[in-house]
Amino acid sequence: MKLFAIFGDPVSHSRSPLMHNSVFKNLNYDACYTRVHLKDGTKLRESFFNLKLSGANITVPHKEEAYKACDEIRGFASKVGVVNTIINENGKLIGYNTDADGFMFAIKEFGNIKTILILGAGGTAKALATRFLEDDIKVSVINRSEGRLAYFKEIGCETYSWDNFTTKKYDLVVNTTSAGLKDEELPAPLEMIESLLDNTKFVADAIYGKLTPFLKLAQSKNITFKDGADMLLGQGVLANELFVNGELDKSDIESSMEKSFKL
Ligand code: NDP
Repeated sequence: MKLFAIFGDPVSHSRSPLMHNSVFKNLNYDACYTRVHLKDGTKLRESFFNLKLSGANITVPHKEEAYKACDEIRGFASKVGVVNTIINENGKLIGYNTDADGFMFAIKEFGNIKTILILGAGGTAKALATRFLEDDIKVSVINRSEGRLAYFKEIGCETYSWDNFTTKKYDLVVNTTSAGLKDEELPAPLEMIESLLDNTKFVADAIYGKLTPFLKLAQSKNITFKDGADMLLGQGVLANELFVNGELDKSDIESSMEKSFKL
């Protein structure tokens, strides 16, 4: 039996075990998926091999550390330096990123999006900003601290910290911060969020499984919003395809995984 896991801190909220085990069970694939609470991201590689894993997902805050832990990086992950999926290929760790395409799948229903403001500048923000630019979307990024903005400036985003931001109009505002994940915080000061929400058509949050304070505010202003559930589904289907290495059909993976969202 193959063993897979998700590494994160926190990780108890993760729905990934349910999603992947639902695929393995429904499609009779001999594998099991568990979760690992990893505090120190530099121990990822050691922990992966100790557990004899065939593959893994990596969540907050270890995705950039996961990039460093790999022997080889393939596809979009090499462009962003952020890895959310690792495959054990004959003892070598191969890193991929399925978050960005998962998010594109999630926002399809918003139609033609031309301008996006990203709140946050972590691993998820990097992946999304890079992917949006590929589709010629104009991307702005705001983060509470300056330090992490350099990457975004370099790839052609407009960048702001809380001190120098003035609201403009956006088609979509996306929260990629972890504010609201385990607390009731907003991703930026209330006044700033209020004015942003008054100037956007759509809102999305990468956090799933709860209505974050950010989404609650969007809801109170009757703005069309979505949480991170479809992004989670999108990235999960792509990761599972890598785990089973072509042995299962993509549409079967998607419908089995979707069932786990109703549990
Ligand atoms: P990182 O740790 O790499 O980045 C976190 C970012 O959030 C940083 O920019 C940090 O700012 C900012 N931040 C943290 N706390 C606060 C706060 N209280 N107020 C304002 N900003 C804050 O995380 P990831 O990019 O890996 O993940 C971010 C979120 O996205 C997580 O909640 C994760 O669960 C979710 N996610 C969901 C997915 C899905 O499938 N739905 C997929 C991927 C991620 P600073 O630089 O100042 O520290």
